[in-house]
Amino acid sequence: MTDLPPPVRLADLPLRDELVGEQPYGAPQLDVAARLNVNENPYPPDDQVIADLARAVTQLARGMNRYPDREALGLRTALAKYLGYGLSADNIWAANGSNEVMVHLLQAFGGPGRTLLSFTPTYSMYPEYARNTHTRYVTTKRDAAFRLDSATILAAIDEHDPDVVLITTPNNPTGTVTPVSVIEEVCEATRRIVVVDEAYQEFTEFPQDSSMALLPRFGHLVVTRTMSKAFAFAGGRLGYLAAGPGVVDACRIVRLPYHLSAQTQALAEVALRHAGSMLARVDQLRDEIVDLQAWLRHAGLDVVPSEANFCLFGRFADRHAVWQALLDRGVLVRETGPQGYLRVSAGTPAEMQLFRTALGEVLHDELAERLDPTTSKES
Ligand SMILES: *Cc1c(COP(=O)(O)O)cnc(C)c1O
Repeated sequence: MTDLPPPVRLADLPLRDELVGEQPYGAPQLDVAARLNVNENPYPPDDQVIADLARAVTQLARGMNRYPDREALGLRTALAKYLGYGLSADNIWAANGSNEVMVHLLQAFGGPGRTLLSFTPTYSMYPEYARNTHTRYVTTKRDAAFRLDSATILAAIDEHDPDVVLITTPNNPTGTVTPVSVIEEVCEATRRIVVVDEAYQEFTEFPQDSSMALLPRFGHLVVTRTMSKAFAFAGGRLGYLAAGPGVVDACRIVRLPYHLSAQTQALAEVALRHAGSMLARVDQLRDEIVDLQAWLRHAGLDVVPSEANFCLFGRFADRHAVWQALLDRGVLVRETGPQGYLRVSAGTPAEMQLFRTALGEVLHDELAERLDPTTSKES
């Protein structure tokens, strides 16, 4: 029998100062009828893909005693071929989600005494990557319509003197696109590392109209993508970047040895072989969110024009109450972005119908209450 010591609470441990009081990232993971809160593709892989994924697992199980390919060359070659733009494996880096790609970039180009600049409102994870890599995080506001032009970006660079400039297009959580011409003007005017996060590029009206096309001209440009959203592979955890070979070499220095498991590499390669099937629902999801934006406006709400598979709608005096009322009806959306707004992802037609019905009820109750406060239900 061993006597276990009493559990030591986090508050009693010598945690790094900047982590004291911090909470782990956590969009709620709830098993409800309509999960529309993390911008996933709601469609599972088809039967042929499932069979091929299973076969790949059986095959790699035979070599499980060995470390995986550190350089993930097979996968990087497949990603280059999938992207096009004349790219080869030397131009591609891959990691466990584009989350990890971004951490590699900051480990290589950020760090103590260095600065990351982004444009708010934007992705809530960026400040966490900066904190974890000891990189100073500074922001400049987008305009009233959440757009971004080169004058704003260049003025922010002058003001903050960043080492890494991060531009998200389409931006999360607003869905706003920054044109390639703006990225081009910025790359021409600065030699700092310019990272373009294109996590939702496949959902835009012209997906080929990407900053990838600028890569041959700018060695300090990095374009990141993920298989988590349009590609319907969030569970596989695979993100990647395209850039000049210098950027890829920098990431190879800072990555943990064998960071990408054999399963991740093999399953992502299978998914890429089935790219047509994995991406088959993208047009439908794009249409879904276009229709939804029109419906939300018709319902009298303010909607931020989005080219991604989600949109921001509001504005609510008490957005948390609306979020909760939707959840009570089995619909999970995201409480994020500017004050008074909620974000909803494109789902299946059935999920969209659930969302419309639930929001219709909530708005009706809200209106009734505003017109006659005495009718308010139990609080
Ligand atoms: C979802 C998302 C990512 C990618 O996430 P991973 O699953 O780690 O690839 C990256 N950037 C933005 C803006 C996102 O919304």
